[in-house]
Amino acid sequence: MSKIRTQTGSYAYAKYQLKRALLENAVDDNYTSKDREEALEFFGGCAFCGSVPAPRNDHLIPVFECGDRVRRNIVPACQPCDDSKGKKEYRKWVRTSHSSRSLKKFRKLSDAEIEKRIKLIEKWRSGYKPKMEAELFGKDYDKYLGILKRMDELCAEAKQLTDSIKARKNVARSVRNTAVLHKKGEPSDADQIRQFVLENYILPARQRGAKTSTVNAGDVHDQMWFVKRLPNVCQALGGEKFQKLANVEKPVIKGPPQGSTTTFTYKL
Ligand SMILES: [Zn+2]
Repeated sequence: MSKIRTQTGSYAYAKYQLKRALLENAVDDNYTSKDREEALEFFGGCAFCGSVPAPRNDHLIPVFECGDRVRRNIVPACQPCDDSKGKKEYRKWVRTSHSSRSLKKFRKLSDAEIEKRIKLIEKWRSGYKPKMEAELFGKDYDKYLGILKRMDELCAEAKQLTDSIKARKNVARSVRNTAVLHKKGEPSDADQIRQFVLENYILPARQRGAKTSTVNAGDVHDQMWFVKRLPNVCQALGGEKFQKLANVEKPVIKGPPQGSTTTFTYKL
């Protein structure tokens, strides 16, 4: 779970943020300044390396894994330890040596010292376990799952939208160059239409595991920013060359012979 990619601007990040917000507002939150004072005294500073100052409060079990903001789950941490540990499992992180901010490299702790720190942390944690999501949300668990599912769908829809904007930009760019390129034996309009439909309809549908893919000529025409070239689109979509390129059989064609509502359904 902690391996989720949280790159800003990605839909995975948007999903992560929503789930984290839901969890953060659902977990127990009763950590006090007295808890912190006592923890600092207990650990002598940072819970991981023992150094001072230890200005951060680190969740042993992260919020994303339902970790509560309670005394037994929060430990003081110095900035280098907190930054390096991130969302990693603390025992695993404490024992690593490959990072430059690891306890072994940065704080020069021996294996024995590290095991001692872990024991100390375990003592503070005194068996603390987070609730499972189902328990955390109780009778609202289905609602919670529903929200996550809707977010998934919303993000899929948003991604489709931005993918098509990107594709449109790419095609617009290549269409602008076509007039020049065409003379040099570069892809013709028909080639570009075939390639566009292959990349934006057939291949994604195959990837989704769909049995068929239906392509609307008007959509392709608009997505490629064409003006009055519906006949070209329909010819390219109905032709044998496309069937060879996309490895499909003759499509089922519905609607007018060469209109914006004409659809081509390919078996995948
Ligand atoms: Zn530290």
